[in-house]
Amino acid sequence: MALGLSCRAQRITQAEIRTMTLECEKVGGINLAQGVCDTDVPLPVRRGAQDAIEAGVNSYTRFDGLAELRRAIAIKMRDYNGIDADPETEITVSAGSTGAFYCACLALLDPGDEVILFEPYYGYHLNTIEAVGASGAYVRMKPPDWSFSAYDLERAITSRTKGIMINTPANPSGKVFDRAELEVIGEVARRRDLFVFTDEIYEYFLYDGRRHLSPAALPLLADRTITISGFSKTYAITGWRIGYSVAPRRWAEVIGHMNDLVYVCAPAPLQLGVARGLSELKRSYYEESLREYSGKRERICSALTSAGMTPFVPQGAYYVLADVSRLPGETGKERAMHLLQRTGIASVPGEAFYHDDWGHRLVRFCFAKHDAELDEACRRLRHLGG
Ligand code: PLP
Repeated sequence: MALGLSCRAQRITQAEIRTMTLECEKVGGINLAQGVCDTDVPLPVRRGAQDAIEAGVNSYTRFDGLAELRRAIAIKMRDYNGIDADPETEITVSAGSTGAFYCACLALLDPGDEVILFEPYYGYHLNTIEAVGASGAYVRMKPPDWSFSAYDLERAITSRTKGIMINTPANPSGKVFDRAELEVIGEVARRRDLFVFTDEIYEYFLYDGRRHLSPAALPLLADRTITISGFSKTYAITGWRIGYSVAPRRWAEVIGHMNDLVYVCAPAPLQLGVARGLSELKRSYYEESLREYSGKRERICSALTSAGMTPFVPQGAYYVLADVSRLPGETGKERAMHLLQRTGIASVPGEAFYHDDWGHRLVRFCFAKHDAELDEACRRLRHLGG
């Protein structure tokens, strides 16, 4: 037998985001492609991790995380998400929400299964589903509010469908699913006996007074939903790799086994940093952070409008999709490269978020940047508009 890659590896392409980041580095540009928040880490989170390192918290933790963190997550789930989760049996701390989702897929999906994705989707969701041999099926959301039709959802379901993926607030569209939409999804999931996977990593980033609603808080969905979230975005610690899943005990148990197999545990002292943040940071921290991001959203949307790249103003998260059909080029990639060459600003071509060519007229900008860098990017964009 010849040496060769696994079929799995051949199906998975390198994220366009990384490619644009490399292109950006070549020209020394401003990287609005990657979702790395450059903002400061809150003090209790830093101190909690430093104290844990000094105290010698160096060993493996229990496979599903340290009790301090599981308990703090359970309190947060109850108070913020309206979900009662038993910290002993229903919460699995993992290597970021990415790790949490991978373990859920390993535990619950078989090769050949299908999972419905709302499009535009987050590429890692599709790649993770494909990494376990399952595949995506698509329900198109329509701008500017990224609504979808119950008919399209129903039509996307086949005898192989095993789950529906929700991302609220969503990357890249910024869509925040409301109660009526979640009830439509819940009714379908129940009738067709499907899992619901929900990635809520941007749960604290909702604009214009919107409130976060977790699918698992709906009684209709409580017993079939795997809630995934993490602290990369909320505490600006993308490199720490602390996330978690919450699921009814019978699913959580197997997700925990997979977490043990793949990661053993999440980084021990960093778990305690996050636990300290959860217990010490007051509501004002989250409100202040939201105010800051609302301001950034206003500034980038206004600059994009001046540049003739109509933004689809996001309801949540910290990305904005813009219509760049006025820029030269046939594809999102060509248009993003044109923009990089003219302004030194890197964005992500829209095709990274679609399974067909619908994304060609879109690019995505990330606005989780320090003010000075974001303001310079906005200045350059306005300049492009002449
Ligand atoms: N989920 C979504 C929707 C994201 O946009 C991102 C990062 O960009 C992640 C998950 C990654 O989260 P984590 O750092 O917790 O793995």
